[in-house]
Amino acid sequence: MLQEMFDKIDADADLTKDEISYLLTLEKEDELEQLYQRADQVRKRYVGEEVHLRGLIELSNYCRKNCLYCGIRRDNRAIPRYRMDVEEVLETVALAEGLGYRTVVLQSGEDLHYTADILVSMVRQVKQQSDVAVTLSIGERPRHVYEKLFEAGADRYLMRFETSNPDLYKRLHPDSRYEERMAILTWLKEMGYQVGSGVMVGVPGQTFDDLAQDILTFKEMDLDMVGVGPYICHEATPLAGSPNGTVEMTLKVVALTRIVTRDTNIPATTALATLRPLDGREKALQVGANVVMPNVTPVKYRALYELYPDKICIGDAAEQCQGCITGRIMSIGRPISQDYGHSFKRNTAK
Ligand code: SAH
Ligand code: SF4
Repeated sequence: MLQEMFDKIDADADLTKDEISYLLTLEKEDELEQLYQRADQVRKRYVGEEVHLRGLIELSNYCRKNCLYCGIRRDNRAIPRYRMDVEEVLETVALAEGLGYRTVVLQSGEDLHYTADILVSMVRQVKQQSDVAVTLSIGERPRHVYEKLFEAGADRYLMRFETSNPDLYKRLHPDSRYEERMAILTWLKEMGYQVGSGVMVGVPGQTFDDLAQDILTFKEMDLDMVGVGPYICHEATPLAGSPNGTVEMTLKVVALTRIVTRDTNIPATTALATLRPLDGREKALQVGANVVMPNVTPVKYRALYELYPDKICIGDAAEQCQGCITGRIMSIGRPISQDYGHSFKRNTAK
């Protein structure tokens, strides 16, 4: 049965939900090895050897939402809040560009201090000042705001749907609606953004079937980028005391996401590296991932953007992160892309 599934993968045939679910339960070392080798082959065939770097700038840890798992949720009164102004963002983007990054990811909690006008002006100035692709990851906004931001020059948008199980989604998100999140992702694609989404692995209440459905949903949505990272328990949230997702399960989800979606950009996530600092990202890059997102947030803010605890690199300046990450990528024999790293699904959007 297992060999049949491997043969299907080798023949570039589509796996069913039951097959994906079964492959997620594999635990024997040799069987996992066979799965991982295939994911690595698919990665090589569809997106090549190059690893794309995206400089991550964490703009603000203010958030109006209360997602149950998240350390910067509104009701966590224990963390000081910060936000960068446009000038500081522009300086940080220039630093990222100077380090050779051809994409910046501007991420934050849902912070309405950044009005549509402020965001448009920020994106416009970034694009005027620097030769970089701009990815936004600032949560849910009205449709016209996304339109304006695209016109201002934003290239990509990143917003995970977190789980494809609507009941689980509802339990985890007291102030978001699953249907709305999915609708936004559809709009973004229609507008011309390269769209990234993804899920957390091992969030309390998630089943193998949920994960299999998540992976099929990535494919159905025709995503340009898929980010999957382990859930990491934050003690200042309602989920305090729950177990973390595991490195092993995350690697299986990365591998199957590559096998099923084929030509997407897939990052080796910081959350995975947090659970396994020694070689988490290298492992992900060897089982299907082709993107890494080094942190360029000013060091004084790093510890405050605490989505989950013990996040790596909170004391490292951007230059150190760059050195560390390029060294890791080179250690596994992969070249670093000098290009924007746009979606493989289209010619560059702009
Ligand atoms: N506010 C925006 C972007 C910031 S949150 C949004 O929610 O889309 C970015 C991602 O961090 C979330 O999509 C979620 O998947 C992840 N995240 C939040 N809390 C986490 C936790 N405790 N463990 C692992 N990942 C977490
Ligand atoms: Fe806010 Fe995003 Fe955290 Fe939800 S996951 S609380 S929207 S920062």
